[in-house]
Amino acid sequence: MQAREALKNRKRIIIKIGSSSLTHMETGSLNMEKMERLVRILTDLHNQGKDVVLVTSGAIAVGRKALGFLERPTERSIKQACAAVGQANLMMVYQKLFAEYSQIAAQILMTKYTMIDDISRTNAQNTFNELFRMGVIPIVNENDTVSTDELDFGDNDTLSAIVTALVGGDLLILLSDIDGLYTDDPHKNTDAKLISCVTQFDDELCSMAKSSTNSLGTGGMATKISAAKIATASGADMVIANGGNVHNINHIIEGEEVGTLFLSHKRPNFNALDYIQTH
Ligand code: GLU
Repeated sequence: MQAREALKNRKRIIIKIGSSSLTHMETGSLNMEKMERLVRILTDLHNQGKDVVLVTSGAIAVGRKALGFLERPTERSIKQACAAVGQANLMMVYQKLFAEYSQIAAQILMTKYTMIDDISRTNAQNTFNELFRMGVIPIVNENDTVSTDELDFGDNDTLSAIVTALVGGDLLILLSDIDGLYTDDPHKNTDAKLISCVTQFDDELCSMAKSSTNSLGTGGMATKISAAKIATASGADMVIANGGNVHNINHIIEGEEVGTLFLSHKRPNFNALDYIQTH
């Protein structure tokens, strides 16, 4: 398929990985082997001359583990404290792994305020551009320690789509714990089929998103569809694929039929702010 083949030529790629793909299900601890593979794949994409951004979750999960909480905390201040510990920890691991391949990585933490405020947004955009120019891989997460209930992205699906728009990315890959978008819930309906390519967002698609579940993480399929709307309207293609196998990143960029591809349809007067809810 031509649209898949075209993914080989994408130059600025944003990859989002969720906590469920980064941690061992049994213990909640980081899956180091997988992180190592992820970092190697990203470095190699960069070595091929592509600009790469990693949007990673895991701050709360890692902090909670370090601080000895058995359950995911519900109280905001505790979650934010966990994120403060976990984000630093997570970056330490990424920095170490990237350093093994002599790849410089940077941290960018954002909130909705970063996008809403004109100066902050421009500064963030300039920082990304400088980092690309310097050959650095930016690692992005929501700034969970300071975000508020009213004004947080909450899930990194939306954040990664907004980042894609901000940096003018041409491909967003969402690594999830499901293979892609199905016609129905594959856990309940054995006839449910994986959809390979989505060209438009109609009512049928939205109802599929409702019945197609994903078990872990903050963002369900509905948030992935909203992310797809933002990314594709900004001019990027987006693929939802299973993060169980990080080599899916390579398969997607080699043009293979992996996951669900949402085709870009750039809106002439696209403005990311139209997609950010502030109430
Ligand atoms: N920003 C949150 C974290 O790092 C996760 C958000 C998400 O799971 O999408 O823990």
